[in-house]
Amino acid sequence: MSKTAIIIGAGPAGLTAAYELLTRTDIKPIIIEKSNDIGGISKTIVHNGNRIDIGGHRFFSKSDVVMQWWQNILPLQGAESKDDILKNIQYQNKKTSVKLSVNGPDPEKVDQVMLIRKRLSRIFFLKKFFNYPITLSKETIINLGFFRIIKIGVSYIWVRIFKVKKIESLEDFFISRFGTELYKTFFKDYTQKVWGVPCNEIEADWGAQRIKELSVSRTIAHAIKSIFKKEDSIEQKKNRYQPD
Ligand SMILES: Cc1cc2nc3c(=O)[nH]c(=O)nc-3n(C[C@H](O)[C@H](O)[C@H](O)COP(=O)(O)OP(=O)(O)OC[C@H]3O[C@@H](n4cnc5c(N)ncnc54)[C@H](O)[C@@H]3O)c2cc1C
Repeated sequence: MSKTAIIIGAGPAGLTAAYELLTRTDIKPIIIEKSNDIGGISKTIVHNGNRIDIGGHRFFSKSDVVMQWWQNILPLQGAESKDDILKNIQYQNKKTSVKLSVNGPDPEKVDQVMLIRKRLSRIFFLKKFFNYPITLSKETIINLGFFRIIKIGVSYIWVRIFKVKKIESLEDFFISRFGTELYKTFFKDYTQKVWGVPCNEIEADWGAQRIKELSVSRTIAHAIKSIFKKEDSIEQKKNRYQPD
């Protein structure tokens, strides 16, 4: 008698688990979903004929296996879609043209396509726009202002000298790594808005998993490197802080 696996939730995790069980084992997956849709918080809804993502998603992963997995499900676009063409006309092919995948599907003909998009994400903070993911750029420094930069620097040096002893929550994790001032400036409100949970109620492990490679020294090194070389791969493996 074959086994059955009950999966709670038809978000990306539940759907992926079910797909893997179906394709690799003889275990029968049954997904139980409480809402009327599949896709969880990564779902795309159709509103007045427009497809809209619930959380402004773009797909990236540091893992080649994960990237390949999703590209098998949604192959990269191989032809320009209507909006690509319109944007190219508007910007006279300057800023928007994307590298299309050879033999990839045409998004005007099929739905199962991973669209390749140039994107600009920004955080509106202190009545100014900051690049997101946060970069150590000239704009960031000007936007923050001299006094805040000094405060950030002092509080960073402080935690380097007087290390946080117990790292229990995500808040402790951020403070221990970046200092209180940088945490309050960039991570506290933003993370709570995205995940709906305050940083002091999220486990420290979450931070360690998602942003283990991020540090102030790496950010400075990345800023210097990016003056000379722009990252343009769709994997965006070198992207800095990505809580989303
Ligand atoms: C604003 C925002 C932007 C984001 N941007 C990106 C991005 O750009 N790139 C990226 O890779 N990730 C992004 N993410 C993260 C990504 O959305 C999540 O990592 C991913 O959706 C998690 O998938 P999941 O299946 O674990 O959970 P979810 O997507 O949360 O799915 C869980 C599912 O389980 C169902 N469920 C819950 N409880 C029950 C229950 N008791 N019984 C039955 N069903 C239940 C829910 O209805 C839901 O459908 C973003 C998240 C947010 C909030």
